[in-house]
Amino acid sequence: MPEEGRAISSDTLSPDAATQGALPDRLARAITLGGPIPLSQFMAAANAHYYATRDPLGATGDFVTAPEISQMFGELIGLALADSWDRAGRPDAAYVELGPGRGTLAADALRAMAKAQAMPPAHFVETSPVLRAAQAARLPGATWHDDLATLPDDVALLVVANEFFDALPIAQLVKGGDGWHERLVACQDTLFLPIAGKRVPDEIIPPSLADAPAGAIIETAPAAVTLIRALARRLVAQGGVAIIVDYGYEGPAIGDTLQAVRGHAAANPFDAPGEQDLTAHVDFATLKAAAEAEGATTWGPVDQGDLLLALGIDARAASLARRAPDRGDELAAARQRLVAPDQMGRLFKAVAIAAPGWPVPAGFA
Ligand code: SAH
Repeated sequence: MPEEGRAISSDTLSPDAATQGALPDRLARAITLGGPIPLSQFMAAANAHYYATRDPLGATGDFVTAPEISQMFGELIGLALADSWDRAGRPDAAYVELGPGRGTLAADALRAMAKAQAMPPAHFVETSPVLRAAQAARLPGATWHDDLATLPDDVALLVVANEFFDALPIAQLVKGGDGWHERLVACQDTLFLPIAGKRVPDEIIPPSLADAPAGAIIETAPAAVTLIRALARRLVAQGGVAIIVDYGYEGPAIGDTLQAVRGHAAANPFDAPGEQDLTAHVDFATLKAAAEAEGATTWGPVDQGDLLLALGIDARAASLARRAPDRGDELAAARQRLVAPDQMGRLFKAVAIAAPGWPVPAGFA
């Protein structure tokens, strides 16, 4: 039984001989000693190392996220949380963020929430020491957690996760001539490559996908499901709401969405483990079903563009531009990047999860 909400263990590679040296060497030795490893173990080890050793965000890093594009993103998400909290009767609450990156979203959200009289203490679920330090520089008063288990259990939770679930390890099943196989990662010399492992029982394949052609791939995200269930249990027991933003689809579906990004360009996901960001599209339907199985209410997915428009991004952009007319063009460009369907507006989507009795969050009606 995994620990509550435990997503990635950085010591997934248990053989002693595999714990020394650089990550690619350790993975290669682990595979030589123990045989090919599940894709989820490869992805977990790669991302744990990747995030533990750098701040990947921004123009000089590997990728840019919505809160790093404009303060408007965090402000509007914060206002939506404050509005839910207000309509729920203003219970004692904590602000919780999963994978807060540089702390930018949290700083913007908490500043906007304070204007709406919501001043919850900040709790961050973050495993990377480098990013914890960046978060502490923005929000020195926050409390940090390795997973959900240590979050406060006696107050409502106002939860945000932006581009967090896409970083959690996925498993893949690949259809062979004789049925479905778990996808494993093998190592030839220093090259990592996916191979088909043991056959899995047909019963675990969603009936709608059973007839897929040879070569088809199905993804599952056991770590994300475990975490969502733990989060939903907390919301149901303590009250609260979570807004989760990511890119994804409503599964189950056929498709290989594992991707690597390095220096703002796509890379081979099996190259240089630990040196590039590995992500997979989030299956919103499965996450919603997991939350509902714990008794929580869910809404969405709604397109990020529609959500931000409903939350008033245009009014916010206009008010910021009035105060800083020289920033008008920059604000218009940021608004466009966050909202336009051909930019982030449609690719990124949001789902909300809440305790029964909590109101429909703004923008999800
Ligand atoms: N939300 C931020 C950062 C997104 S990057 C933004 O929008 O800018 C992903 C974040 O999740 C990083 O902070 C990373 O360190 C964290 N993270 C990744 N896997 C994690 C895990 N298993 N447990 C906790 N944090 C994790």
